[in-house]
Amino acid sequence: MKEEHNNIILRGQNLTKVFGEFKANDNVNFSISKGEIHALLGENGAGKSTFVKIIYGLLKPDSGQIYWKNKVIDINGPKHARDLGIGMVFQHFSLFDSLTVLENISLAISDSEVNADLEKRIEKLSSEYGLKIDPHSRVFNLSVGEQQRVEIIRCLLQDPELLIMDEPTSVLTPQEIAKLFEVLEKLSNNGCSILFITHKLEEVRKLTTKASILRRGVNVATVNTKDHTAKSFSQMMVGHEIDDNNPKNRNINKENNLRINSLSRPSESQFSVSLKNIDIEISGGEILGIAGIAGNGQYELMEALIGEYLVDDKDTIMFNNKDLSFMKPNERRKHGLSFIPEERIGHATISSFKLSDNFYLTDYINKNSSKFGIVNNQFNKSNAENIIKNYDVRIPYENPTASSLSGGNLQKFIVGREISRAPKLLIASQPTWGVDIGAALEIRKQIINIAENGALVILISQDIDEIFMLSDIISVIYDGKLSKQFNKNKISIEQVGLLMGGSQLTDN
Ligand code: ADP
Ligand code: MG
Repeated sequence: MKEEHNNIILRGQNLTKVFGEFKANDNVNFSISKGEIHALLGENGAGKSTFVKIIYGLLKPDSGQIYWKNKVIDINGPKHARDLGIGMVFQHFSLFDSLTVLENISLAISDSEVNADLEKRIEKLSSEYGLKIDPHSRVFNLSVGEQQRVEIIRCLLQDPELLIMDEPTSVLTPQEIAKLFEVLEKLSNNGCSILFITHKLEEVRKLTTKASILRRGVNVATVNTKDHTAKSFSQMMVGHEIDDNNPKNRNINKENNLRINSLSRPSESQFSVSLKNIDIEISGGEILGIAGIAGNGQYELMEALIGEYLVDDKDTIMFNNKDLSFMKPNERRKHGLSFIPEERIGHATISSFKLSDNFYLTDYINKNSSKFGIVNNQFNKSNAENIIKNYDVRIPYENPTASSLSGGNLQKFIVGREISRAPKLLIASQPTWGVDIGAALEIRKQIINIAENGALVILISQDIDEIFMLSDIISVIYDGKLSKQFNKNKISIEQVGLLMGGSQLTDN
């Protein structure tokens, strides 16, 4: 312990920051050692950004002290912080789009360092850390990950001993995240300490050795990462038990992915909504919840996702690099898609059909369902019976018609039918609408279960609690436009409510 103490590079003691009446940081104690990668965790609004802004000299604490290498220091601004050896990569980048990488970096560092050497130093850092970047490319040509590399290089040019990153991975693709982690590990091996804010708890376990958890401005714990799980982290973050179904525990399976690129659809009547440039990007293991008030394009979107409406442009709906844009529902089913549409009678089932025939309805692409044009009744019946058994569907008599089941039981049958196909992508609209609580819980469990098995799920629901219960990612549909995708942990119910009403959120 003693040794560790000597290695402490920065220590915050009883740091408090008050905004009006509100304590954003409340007597925070924190320390980070040389070369340590330390995660700073907490729910939205917990005070993480406030804390790192204090350390970077952007905010003055109302009370408390900062020790830099065991000496009390009054950091009077970012320039002072940089001179000490503290660098920060912000959540939102501050690069000029029309300038080159080199020009941007020149602007950001002190005049004395802008010389012929600069380009060489950039190249050296970029090769040393694998931060591939062409100093002469213009920023507008760079991906987000590349822009972040520029920001990191800009920090590294000043030889920081402590690098602060405020949610660096929220904007990156998984491949870029993997690359970033390599860079950070290298930096840490070279003795640079890293303070890393993230919402992604699995990342914490991958990258960091220590984690501090802020809750309502208070540092409630500093722990060794290896002793914890994503679940125990989230419990510390929220301050109470979280049930095992919590979606935060899932692994992301990048192999399974859906990219919807600018899906548009004109309105067909005065009652239908036009869809406007809808983008969706999710990976296996993720549940995307689409919230919204009924009549804002959910129905039109569902039809386009199912293939009942076909878009005009190729490459609009890309699933595992296959273009589904022009495929009808059954072709999409062949590629591993399953659908739970909103209307269970008429759309999901035919009411006068027996359950076995309703099974066949979405399974006839399967060669066991029918052979040589002859329906395999036995196969369909035994499958329907399995669904009835496994999904606790209460039936009035053997192989009943769809219309003889209560709404909740028919819904369980539909969910069971769609899920028993082990889909790679499930698209569900209002899956628990009008269903009693017990059945709703069961249906939600099944949806989480397939996501845990690596499927991706799009959940369209007007039930905002359900959206928050199930989703990892939340978007809001309003007037045919889909908001950006928010990490569930980064948006509040109130904010979703605002988006549902057509307001824009201001960035915080
Ligand atoms: P986090 O980064 O953990 O999401 P922040 O540190 O950004 O949280 O914010 C913590 C709390 O302090 C929030 O409730 C936020 O609204 C408030 N806050 C942050 N900055 C300011 C400010 N400049 N003025 C007033 N309130 C602020
Ligand atoms: Mg923040």
